[in-house]
Amino acid sequence: MTFQPIFPPHRPILIAGPCSAETEEQVLAAAHGLKNRGVSLFRAGIWKPRTRPGAFEGIGVPGLKWLQRVQAETGLSVTTEAANAQHVQECLKHGVNVLWIGARTTVNPFSVQEIADALQGVDVPVLVKNPVNPDYKLWVGALERLYKAGVRRVAAVHRGFSSYGDSKYRNVPRWQMAIDLMQEFPDLEVICDISHICGRRDILAETAQKAFDLSFAGLMVEVHPDPDRAWSDAAQQITPERFGEMLQGLVRRAVTTDDPDFLASMENSRSAIDEIDEEIIYLIARRMQLVREIGAIKKDKNVAVLQPERFRALRESLQRRGEKNEFSPEFIALFLEAVHQESINQQEKVINDPVVPASAFTR
Ligand code: PEP
Ligand code: MN
Repeated sequence: MTFQPIFPPHRPILIAGPCSAETEEQVLAAAHGLKNRGVSLFRAGIWKPRTRPGAFEGIGVPGLKWLQRVQAETGLSVTTEAANAQHVQECLKHGVNVLWIGARTTVNPFSVQEIADALQGVDVPVLVKNPVNPDYKLWVGALERLYKAGVRRVAAVHRGFSSYGDSKYRNVPRWQMAIDLMQEFPDLEVICDISHICGRRDILAETAQKAFDLSFAGLMVEVHPDPDRAWSDAAQQITPERFGEMLQGLVRRAVTTDDPDFLASMENSRSAIDEIDEEIIYLIARRMQLVREIGAIKKDKNVAVLQPERFRALRESLQRRGEKNEFSPEFIALFLEAVHQESINQQEKVINDPVVPASAFTR
């Protein structure tokens, strides 16, 4: 798939505006506050997918007229979330410039297909947020459905992933997944929605800087004239003034340079990293070897593969070590879960399959 850009080449692309369109005054105050701050697209949710019923579910069609006023008064292009064919029709009727597909829609291929069908033969650009769960193929699948319907101006938005339990983030970022997307589709504009990743104001700036350092094409940020009184996502919204200040504090670094000293030292460090990565695989292979031997003993004594107490103790000790090295608890949890899952699989093979030897190890 070769995508066409939605935005001019100027970086960063800035998409900003309130989580929800609440009133005409609120929408216009946000838009006027953003007009001279480098924003290329004004966002506001008209239909809101809320986690639980009873919360504000969006103003609906009347809000589309307010977006038309934004276009007329500020010259900003506008975008809103479309979750079904009817939303698409209403957006097209009211001249919405760009549509976005929300995380709870990307997750459902029926809904994405319905939107793609409604866009057949229509030249309107679409932003595709990642699905709520970290499924790379599902995200790419949504891009493909639009592409097959003839939509070429498509961009992706990384807004993090739902997880159960405590985390610093509302939706945990999976930076590598966004980087994989940039590498697989070099023409695709990949934007970072820091507001839905963070869920809180105090870590927006550091997350925006991280997105810049990872070469995201731009940011999506929720901006509200009176954030504390927002009807949705109050904790993560900021004023237009704060948005401006945040941008001024960010550093945009060059992707590379041709300075020979820099290139040489990069090359050295990279080959050292490659060696370490190989060593890590070697160490994990040795670990798996021991795990399989234990599996053979468990088989002998008829003992269950999963030993919850042992896993808990291991997790606590690794979390402590991780903390000392300033690793995030999310990283340690993911790492341990992956290693532990593979260990269980390896032991099950030894236990259930008589031909799998307990010692199968290659450097
Ligand atoms: C939003 O952008 O307001 C929104 C609902 O986002 P997401 O689909 O990422 O949750
Ligand atoms: Mn929101």
